[in-house]
Amino acid sequence: MKAVYFHAHGDVEVLEYGELPTPEPGEGQALVRLRAAALNRMDLWTRQGWPGLKLELPHVPGADGAGEVAALGPGVHDWQSGERVVINPSLSCGRCEACVSGRDNLCREWRLLGETVRGTYAEYVAVPATHLLRLPEGLEAGVAAAAALVFHTAWHSLIVRGGLRAGETVLVVGASGGVNTAYIQIAKLAGAVVYVVGSNAEKLALAESLGADYLIDRSKEEAWSKAVFQLTQRRGVDVVVDNVGTSFPQSFRTARKGGRILTVGNTGGPTFEIDNRYIFGKHLSILGSSMGTRADFAAVMGLVFAGKLKPVIDRTFPLSQARVAQERLASGEQRGKIVLNIDE
Ligand code: ZN
Repeated sequence: MKAVYFHAHGDVEVLEYGELPTPEPGEGQALVRLRAAALNRMDLWTRQGWPGLKLELPHVPGADGAGEVAALGPGVHDWQSGERVVINPSLSCGRCEACVSGRDNLCREWRLLGETVRGTYAEYVAVPATHLLRLPEGLEAGVAAAAALVFHTAWHSLIVRGGLRAGETVLVVGASGGVNTAYIQIAKLAGAVVYVVGSNAEKLALAESLGADYLIDRSKEEAWSKAVFQLTQRRGVDVVVDNVGTSFPQSFRTARKGGRILTVGNTGGPTFEIDNRYIFGKHLSILGSSMGTRADFAAVMGLVFAGKLKPVIDRTFPLSQARVAQERLASGEQRGKIVLNIDE
């Protein structure tokens, strides 16, 4: 099969486009003929590698993918070849205490497709059949792939972990990335009032088009926590979504007393200093999560299938252009998701 892979960690040049053996679906697995994949920041980190990361090389990146069922492994009876599907990349064992109790995102053997197992930058991928959802007619594979990881992540964080309720106020730190554009849409659909801090007017225009109510341009207002405080009549917001990390000091200041800080990432780097007095003095809850459960995936993708949530797609590249696609993601210039077309 055609695939994009790397034999060693490094810069974008380590990505190769060529032939790899097509995987065989194992017990409980389905082989999916991918038609589209979507990029996530994790793809860049996996390619660069980190201490302790052990991969079977060559490694195929990519968590997000959609296509159709091509073959079934032993023990799979509820799927047929040719059915169009999207993949839930949050892989769980299905047997441990967490999985059995429906909290499969806390699985003891949890793995992310494309991170430590071969992923979706390829014509074929073998995944557990339990991690597929049928695509409705007319929904493009590229749209489904672009939605999967970010909407799954944002839904679990905001609705399940964060317990967002209609009428609450939400601040999203960052305007234009895949996951933040998903947060903005989900918060609006849930009936929240949404504030967005973005790095420039163009990125904020995208947030506004998705329904954001209040826009704060941090190129003009460096102390954006103050701006949010004034906009909320010095009350602060109920929920802050902060996937930057290094901005936690400002996020703590913008939260109301008893507010919740939600985080699913650290685009600003993993370590930074925080002032603990904000956490106890303001009764803050810091709620971290990574992806969501299988039930969350079905719930949020149902809204994508119904057209109530729509991934923002920046650009689509052919699979053979994965290097250019990753360079664009690394540049930070993209607005929403970058998609790979595997239909060539
Ligand atoms: Zn498990």
